[in-house]
Amino acid sequence: MMSEQRKAVAITGGASGIGLETARLLFERGYYPFLLDLRAEPLRQACSELGLPETNGIVCNVADEMNVEAAIMAAAGEGPLVGIVNCAGIAMDKPAVETSVEEFRRIIDVNLTGTFIVSRAAARHWLAHGSSGSIVNITSVSGLCGNKGRVAYGSSKGGQNLLTLVMANELGSQGIRVNAVAPGPIDTPMAQQVHTEQVRQQWNSRVPMRRYGTPREIASAVAFLLSDDASYVNGQILAVDGGFINAGLAA
Ligand code: NAP
Repeated sequence: MMSEQRKAVAITGGASGIGLETARLLFERGYYPFLLDLRAEPLRQACSELGLPETNGIVCNVADEMNVEAAIMAAAGEGPLVGIVNCAGIAMDKPAVETSVEEFRRIIDVNLTGTFIVSRAAARHWLAHGSSGSIVNITSVSGLCGNKGRVAYGSSKGGQNLLTLVMANELGSQGIRVNAVAPGPIDTPMAQQVHTEQVRQQWNSRVPMRRYGTPREIASAVAFLLSDDASYVNGQILAVDGGFINAGLAA
């Protein structure tokens, strides 16, 4: 049974990795998470693991406007919807000259256009209801510097960072905060798929803290930005990266 007081949050990419851990932490902290993801079976497993009803897992392609509208309405119907975490994403590590236009477009479509579609739908919902809300976009340090192999991925993440600044600027006066968390390397299914052993060694030697981060360490930053503890934080891109982005000459 749903309580009027339950604070619903929608987490895209919520069936795996950072999104799943964020859902777990937010649920522990009293939010009511809805997981929006591509495939039904991982969603079912994630809901069961978290102890949520299966209906909290919503099959949704973030690049599809109709899917997203329906998913936001479903989450808000259990509302009030107080937050959105844009975590759905796909990655690729390929030199620019070997990247096809189709690959480039696909990555931009999911990571950047998907974030836009979801954020716009949530913002329209909040504006229509005169309510406040908080959006946290999971971007990447690859959207802040020119990591090799990231022509498509890094462009999509850099775009997400700028989208964060524009929407924070436009919506702040209406009580809607928009921030981003830019993770460094995090041990998730995505990193296991994309990072070769050599790439792992590179990250481990370049990150000042000399290790990968955990999904929980990203979820903690997201939970802060989403919450009222961050009530005057708007338009920030918080790197959670063991010091990678601000490191100069290697120590
Ligand atoms: P993950 O474990 O692969 O989780 C991503 C989830 O997003 C998957 O469940 C994936 O479903 C889903 N997804 C993909 N395309 C989608 C779409 N069109 N609509 C809805 N859901 C979709 O990856 P992760 O490492 O947790 O990554 C989460 C976010 O963190 C991503 O935005 C990523 O770019 C960012 N990030 C990750 C790292 C890292 O090192 N792991 C670093 C910086 C930033 P499928 O499995 O079916 O594809």
